[in-house]
Amino acid sequence: MSLTLAVDGARWRAHLRAVARANPGLVPVAKGNGYGFTLGRLARRAQWLQDQGLGIDTLAVGTYDELPHVARRFDGDLLVLTPWRPFGPALEVDPAIADRVIHTVGRASDLEGLLGRRPDSRFVLERVTSMLRHGLSARELWSTAPIVAEHRSARLEGIAMHLPLAQGSHLSEVTRLVNDVVAAGLATTTIWVSHLTHTELTELRAAYPDFTIRPRIGTDLWLGDRAALRVTSTVLDVHAVERGDVFGYRGRTAPKSGHILVVSGGTAHGIGLEAPTGDTTIRARAATLARGGLDAVGFVRSPFSIDGKQRLFAEPPHMQASMLFLPHGPRVPEVGDEIDVRVRFTATAFDRVRTD
Ligand SMILES: *Cc1c(COP(=O)(O)O)cnc(C)c1O
Repeated sequence: MSLTLAVDGARWRAHLRAVARANPGLVPVAKGNGYGFTLGRLARRAQWLQDQGLGIDTLAVGTYDELPHVARRFDGDLLVLTPWRPFGPALEVDPAIADRVIHTVGRASDLEGLLGRRPDSRFVLERVTSMLRHGLSARELWSTAPIVAEHRSARLEGIAMHLPLAQGSHLSEVTRLVNDVVAAGLATTTIWVSHLTHTELTELRAAYPDFTIRPRIGTDLWLGDRAALRVTSTVLDVHAVERGDVFGYRGRTAPKSGHILVVSGGTAHGIGLEAPTGDTTIRARAATLARGGLDAVGFVRSPFSIDGKQRLFAEPPHMQASMLFLPHGPRVPEVGDEIDVRVRFTATAFDRVRTD
């Protein structure tokens, strides 16, 4: 009855261990929908990795609001990736966990704001990268050094950099940014980074042997071995139709004989009109938009597949179920059968996560 994420537990756990072993200083990232697994499950897994002596002493969450989901399941430090601001949930951290929280600071004024409120705060200073998302420029980074020095009890835990997804090598950018850190004269030798390849990490460590490089990894950790994961939907109903038969919210008619299948999984789960293709070119996106506009007259490819082939939506997905049109020919699944679904894990709310 459910949209289910089935995890091959032994295989998944072996992958998690392998990633942790291959990445000294690893900081697992658990944010959003927990990459499909939920935040609580990822926090327990991070604790499990730590318990095995794999050195997982810190878990990263995306937002302050996510802290309560992980704080009781993982007992190490908690890095918040969204920069601290002098308002909102950043000021509402549960005092019971405040000493485990490492804030991300991306503006010099916020550093004063944070330390003014709690002089012994733990924080990383974020250096802005070519992503231009958050963080300090080189000049602003320099301006933080006296502020840090003034606050004797302040705990600077390192410098953070959020790099774009790889398009060529990051090394020249990272080298330039690390040189800024050296020039700023800040009392830290820890760099927290994202999206560096194994080779890039190795080269960076070789170039800066005095620095500790801590990779923050989400996708490649939790979702890195796709063969350990299977997403299924349940066939809830099957109706034979003849050409011209009416079906659906919009009273459409079947273009030929076949079957209407009602399967679990709809908009509430994040099932979209178009199967993700991974193709992000402007032309592909334009084509997707154009096809979306055709949903009143044509059938759109769905992310549900039967016998290895992606099938057509009979109409746009409903809230918790979808209607598929299966023309006469292929095997017709039965009520209760499970069919495969292709999803974006970071945008899908599964009814169940089942680990075997
Ligand atoms: C999400 C995030 C990561 C992890 O990204 P993945 O691509 O899932 O590995 C690392 N750093 C920051 C700042 C992030 O927001």
